[in-house]
Amino acid sequence: MMIIRLRTKILVIMVSMIMLSSIAIIIFIKTTLYQKLFVKLQKRGISIARQIRERSVNYILTERFYELEMMIKDFKTTEEDVEYIFILNEHGEVLGHTFAKGFPMGMKSVNMLSAGQTHSVDSVKIEEKDTEKDILDIAVPILGGEAGVVHLGISRDPITKDVNDIVMFLIWMITGIMIAGIIAAIVLSKAISKPVSELIKAVKVVGSGNLNYSVNLSTNDEIAQLSESFNKMTKDLKQKTDELQKVNSDLSILYSVSTAAGSTMKLDELFEAVLYIIAHLEIFKLEHKGAVFTIDGDRMKLVYQTGFPDSFVNAHKDMRVGECICGLAAKTGEIIVSKNSEPDIRHTIKYPGIISHGHISIPLEARNRVLGVLCLYPPVGIEINKHEMALFYTIGNRIGAAIDNIMLYEETKTLSLHDPLTGLANRRLMDYVLETSFARAKRAECPFSAIMMDIDFFKNYNDKYGHTIGDKMLVDIAKIVSGEIRQIDLGVRYGGEEFLILLPETGLSEACEVAERMRKDVEVKTGVTVSLGITCYNHNMQSKEEIISKADDALLQAKRKGKNRIEVNA
Ligand code: GH3
Ligand code: MG
Ligand code: MG
Repeated sequence: MMIIRLRTKILVIMVSMIMLSSIAIIIFIKTTLYQKLFVKLQKRGISIARQIRERSVNYILTERFYELEMMIKDFKTTEEDVEYIFILNEHGEVLGHTFAKGFPMGMKSVNMLSAGQTHSVDSVKIEEKDTEKDILDIAVPILGGEAGVVHLGISRDPITKDVNDIVMFLIWMITGIMIAGIIAAIVLSKAISKPVSELIKAVKVVGSGNLNYSVNLSTNDEIAQLSESFNKMTKDLKQKTDELQKVNSDLSILYSVSTAAGSTMKLDELFEAVLYIIAHLEIFKLEHKGAVFTIDGDRMKLVYQTGFPDSFVNAHKDMRVGECICGLAAKTGEIIVSKNSEPDIRHTIKYPGIISHGHISIPLEARNRVLGVLCLYPPVGIEINKHEMALFYTIGNRIGAAIDNIMLYEETKTLSLHDPLTGLANRRLMDYVLETSFARAKRAECPFSAIMMDIDFFKNYNDKYGHTIGDKMLVDIAKIVSGEIRQIDLGVRYGGEEFLILLPETGLSEACEVAERMRKDVEVKTGVTVSLGITCYNHNMQSKEEIISKADDALLQAKRKGKNRIEVNA
């Protein structure tokens, strides 16, 4: 579809309007003016004809036709626009005329007039030799027509010329006005279309995504108002887009932190993952440095750090809650921001190689308890606004919740697999370890030993000292067991005062040594004695339960043989 520009439309409309109104004005002026001049000419012609009539009566009545002709010729000479005068008698015969070369034949057909009437025959054209003139013929009856009639031909050319001159003048004037109008129209259309073009350009630029663009118009019209509204709309849009971007960026940060926090059930892995993400966040320019402290009573423990020298680690070895900026965050549960740690009196821990830095210490909180502190090193002069502060609190709470979850998980795991009194493994954990160790021994043919231990005369002990002291004894003996075994071994509280010790990759003689050390230790350290039955895996064993029953049998032997001793059931 052809596009007609606004400017062209305005131009065409204005020029058409000027032209149409000009033509209308010219027609109106021409018609009215001609009419008026014609009436005036008619009146003058009648007046001249009447004067001639007054003067001719006498000549006609006295038949002095020569004088009559002289008289009318005089008239013609005086009145410039009078083309001809002739007088006819009542029979239509010419009595006198002003024609140079005889009376034209055609004039004889002029009708006689009624008495007292003026007869104006418009546009009677009289052929002259080689010109054609526009003449108004006026006929005035003499003595009511009885003595004849005066014909006066008066030229209409002067009024036609006057009217034409005026029309010509008007045409020139209107042409001038039209040219001025066109120039004005061009200027005006430019004045109108330029801001519209500006606006269109702005709409295109903003539409393509550049929200920093604005229209600047010096005018004060509706388009300027429209531009102002457009600018305001763009500004609002930009503000909303910026806000949205911020929210988006926050959500993405939180998503990353949450993903990292939820990706592991181990504290050290958690600290490593979240610190890596946070320290690398571009928006805070953290220079890839950060540390995590946990809280243990009134002490702070540096559990993870990245980007710091060893001197930093050494300086924070024995840190108290409330000490330095991170300790303060732990104590108050508030985020502490320091623009420059160097002159900051709260920053009390210095270390060799320290450089000026800003500080953001974020408490890691869960269930209204500060579990740790995330320490970040931004550059000097850092400004944290309200929005970022809220984001840091959310991050702190998210990591705090993750720490809390992991701690709860560890606690639950310990409770479900360990005996709450002695902290040794319970039967559930024993079953698992026994099965894997038994299977491994069977598969790899590697040695695997078990010791069953029972406190001697424990009923008496309980009766003598009471159950609480008896429980304490169980804890003490459990500690001795734990102290004598390796990491791969497992100490189990098998029954009330019976303990099972599983020793993978351990042969019978080594197991006997361990058992003997335990027996001695118990005797020396506690004042009670224990009996121990020892067995070792052999390839004839069909089930894991066999190894336990064999150890149990050996224990029974030890009891039978007098207690406070070890027996072997190979
Ligand atoms: P023996 O030398 O033959 O083993 O004699 P004993 O008295 O130790 O008898 P037994 O092995 O049957 O031990 C059972 C006693 O152990 C009964 C109870 O008083 C005590 N006991 C079992 N479980 C607990 C416990 O959880 N706490 C306390 N304090 N005592 C317990
Ligand atoms: Mg017992
Ligand atoms: Mg006993």
